[in-house]
Amino acid sequence: MAEQLIISVSGMRGIVGENLTASVAADYGRAFGTFVKESCAGKKGNFSVSVGRDSRPSGQQLLSAIAEGLCTVGIDVIDLGVVTTPCVGIMLRELGCAGGVVVTASHNPGQYNGIKLLLSNGIAPPSGAAEKIKQYFFDKHFCFADSSGRGKVTSSEQADTAHIAKVLAIVDRGTIAAKKFKVVLDSVNGAGGRITKILLAELGCEVSAINDEPTGLFAHAPEPIADNLRELCEIVKTERADIGFAQDPDADRLAIVDENGSYIGEEYSLALSAKYIFSKKTGKAATNLSTSRMIDDVAEKVGGRVIRTAVGEANVAAAMFENDCIIGGEGNGGVIDLRVGPIRDSLVGIALVLQLMAETGKTISQLVGEIGGYYMSKDKFTADTLQAQKILNLAKKAFADAKLDTTDGCRFDFDDGWLHLRASNTEPVIRIIVEAKDRRTGEKYVDTVLKIRGEVLD
Ligand code: MG
Repeated sequence: MAEQLIISVSGMRGIVGENLTASVAADYGRAFGTFVKESCAGKKGNFSVSVGRDSRPSGQQLLSAIAEGLCTVGIDVIDLGVVTTPCVGIMLRELGCAGGVVVTASHNPGQYNGIKLLLSNGIAPPSGAAEKIKQYFFDKHFCFADSSGRGKVTSSEQADTAHIAKVLAIVDRGTIAAKKFKVVLDSVNGAGGRITKILLAELGCEVSAINDEPTGLFAHAPEPIADNLRELCEIVKTERADIGFAQDPDADRLAIVDENGSYIGEEYSLALSAKYIFSKKTGKAATNLSTSRMIDDVAEKVGGRVIRTAVGEANVAAAMFENDCIIGGEGNGGVIDLRVGPIRDSLVGIALVLQLMAETGKTISQLVGEIGGYYMSKDKFTADTLQAQKILNLAKKAFADAKLDTTDGCRFDFDDGWLHLRASNTEPVIRIIVEAKDRRTGEKYVDTVLKIRGEVLD
C-alpha cells in the first residue's frame, strides 16, 4: 500500500514524486499564505514569508512550488536557499516576516521530503492553527490575489552570518579559541556542514569535516544515532580529537562522540548544554515528558527547576517563552536557547558544550561521568486508537501507585524511574519510553506494559 502523505502540527511529510509533488507543495503554500493573510488582517503593508530548505535534491523544486503558491495569494517570499531549520526561524524574525517555511524531512531517508511551517514568533503553529491550515489545504480554500497584488520573490544571503553571530553571542569565543579544540564534524551531506565549519573556525577549532557537502546524498542513514555514526567514532579515535559532532540533515539535532570515539547518546546534548547554562545562573528549563531526567539532576544541583511539556518542539518552545526559561529542548539532541531562537539548534548545542569543556578544562567523557546516567529505552508497538486507549487505561490501574501526568498520553513517575506511554498522532502506534536506575528496573516496567498489550490485542 502506498504511504500516506502525513500532515501534522509541524507540517507535511511524504515521498517525493509519489504523494509529495510540486502541485501539492504549491497548494500547501497557498493554504499557509491564506492563513498568514487572515491572521494579519487589519495590519497594513505587504506580508512576507522566509523560505529555506535542506540539501535534498528534491528541495529546490518543492521550494519553488511553495514560493509560487505563496505569491499567488499575495505573500512576498524571501528565499534563503540551503540553510538549517533553526536558521529559517532566526531569519524570519530578523526580517520581520509573518511566517517561515522549511523544506526538509529532517532525519528521514532521502526518498522523503517535507514542509515545515513556522509562525512569526519562529515556532510551529499550535494545534488549532495547524488544523486550520490543513483544512484550507484539503478544501482548497485559497484567497487568490489579483494580478497587481501578487507577491514577489527576493533572496537573502545573510542567513548564515546572522545565525553565526547569534550563536557566538552566547559564548566566550576567546575562552574556547584558547583551547584549540580538535573537532570532527559529520553533517551527513545535509544543510549543516557549511555553516558549522564556519562557526567552528570562528571558535578557533581545528576541524576535520566529513560528509560536509550539501548534496543531499546522505553518506549514511541520516538519523544521528549510534549505528549510523561508526565512521565518525572511528575518525575521532584515530585523529585523537577532543570531540565529534553529528548533525541530522536540517541540523536541528546534535549527537556527540567523546574523545575515546564512543557515541554518548543524543540525550546528553541537552544535559551537557544545560550543565553549562546552570553553571552560570539558576532558573527554569523546559523539556518534553519523554526526555531523560538528567536535566532535572543538573538543574536540582543549583536550585533550578524543569518544566515538562507534551512532546513536540513547539510545546517546549512555548513553555520556554511563557516561563522565561534559560535553556530547553528535547532528548533527541535538540537544544533550544531563546537568545538565539526558539528552535532546536545543533549549533547552539555545539557552542555550549565547547564552552563547558573550555571553562572546566575537562574532557567530554569526564563531563558525561559527572552528569551520570540511567538505563533508557525507546520503543514503539502497533495499536489502533481504541486499543491504545485500552492499553493506557489498564496501565493506569497497573501503575496506580505512581505519580501520573496525563498532559500527553500517560507518564508514570516511580521512585526508581519513569515510563511514558503515548499514542502517535501520525501512525497507529504507541511509543513507550522508559528510564530507570538500571536495566532490570526499566525492563520490569516495560514487561508490565507488554503484558497489558498482549491482553488487549488478543
Ligand atoms: Mg531535524
